[in-house]
Amino acid sequence: MELEVIRQTDSEIADLIEKELDRQKNTIELIASENFTSPAVMAACGSILTNKYAEGKPYKRFYNGCENIDKIEELAIERAKKLFNAEHANVQPHSGAQANMAVFMYAVKPGDMVMGMDLSNGGHLSHGSPVNFSGLYFNIVSYGINENGVIDYDKVRELSLKNKPKLIVCGASNYSKIIDFKKFKEIADETGALLLADIAHIAALVAAGEHPSPFPYADFVTTTTHKTLRGPRGGIIMCKEKHAAGIDKAVFPGIQGGPLEHIIAGKAVALKEALSPEFKKYAHQVVLNAKELAQALMEEGLDIVGNGTDNHLMTLDLRKTGNTGKDIANLLEKAGITANKNTVPNDPQSPFITSGVRLGSPAVTTRGFKEEDMREVGKIIAEVVKIGNSSNEEKLKELKARSLKLCQKYPFLY
Ligand SMILES: *Cc1c(COP(=O)(O)O)cnc(C)c1O
Repeated sequence: MELEVIRQTDSEIADLIEKELDRQKNTIELIASENFTSPAVMAACGSILTNKYAEGKPYKRFYNGCENIDKIEELAIERAKKLFNAEHANVQPHSGAQANMAVFMYAVKPGDMVMGMDLSNGGHLSHGSPVNFSGLYFNIVSYGINENGVIDYDKVRELSLKNKPKLIVCGASNYSKIIDFKKFKEIADETGALLLADIAHIAALVAAGEHPSPFPYADFVTTTTHKTLRGPRGGIIMCKEKHAAGIDKAVFPGIQGGPLEHIIAGKAVALKEALSPEFKKYAHQVVLNAKELAQALMEEGLDIVGNGTDNHLMTLDLRKTGNTGKDIANLLEKAGITANKNTVPNDPQSPFITSGVRLGSPAVTTRGFKEEDMREVGKIIAEVVKIGNSSNEEKLKELKARSLKLCQKYPFLY
């Protein structure tokens, strides 16, 4: 329906949205950072709230006419606090990277030492990559994972004692093991560092009790709202009460202007959904589905970094197959599966080529996929790897039909 409204003004954009809907509907989405929001979340994001300026905080705005906006943002804040058992929440960050930027702005000064997980080992750009503000304006020391795909905590401690960072960042974009937040807290306490836990990827698992919570330990917890949490694109910062005023100031006026209140309404709706018993079941199924996919791939003779997964994602290690991550991700797309190339530990290839493919279960689980479907997905992926450089177009077409059949097994959301 919205599409027809758009079409009346702009048929080019309407056509492209329609094509994108078709793509989302008919391909198996395994990008670990993506998900499908509910139509309710989407409607809130497309609402008239986009018209309002509301710089400041609820009930302390720089603009008039905020009486409804105040209540909307207050609901989002209260629900975030309840879902995660947090002392304070700021729901205004436009994205996960901006949530981290605000924490950096509050917790450290340019030139200060910060420790984060290396990007090629599964960390995020905003944890100190040299091409990101975090790496440009701060002194960064990075830690990584060992050959078993586990964070090398001894090394983290050693690096911390040696470099005495003011801020330690834990949390990752591609890490399939449980993160030991308590251990990070102990390491931070040894040198008096502040601790930021970035749960952008595992937020839903933390909320549902499928992953231990960082809240008893971290000074700050940042998250995106659009990954496992299944809300609109955006970020949230949560923290201990003693940091609340400083964090709020860092978000606005520190790094942002007017908050996106339509998106904040979408966050509020998503957080309400996340507080429901159904969402707990969803988060549980996400983990079951990822484990099943990892198992299926390993039974097909493929390698998974760390030999399996404890959460919603895994990295297929293609080194012994003679294929690159880039090639397999492209072939998967021809077979109706979307995923992204990713480096593996000690990857001999560049980040543009890579030797791995990251696979995640959040989006397909939202569609309704169960363990038996993940088995079939695993078989399709294994077939694609077998095809490899031989580029058997006929076989790829056949696999694409199998992917489509899986997509059509469950009604699509929109
Ligand atoms: C995705 C992600 C982010 C950034 O989120 P954006 O909304 O893309 O800015 C930050 N941290 C981690 C660990 C992430 O995985």
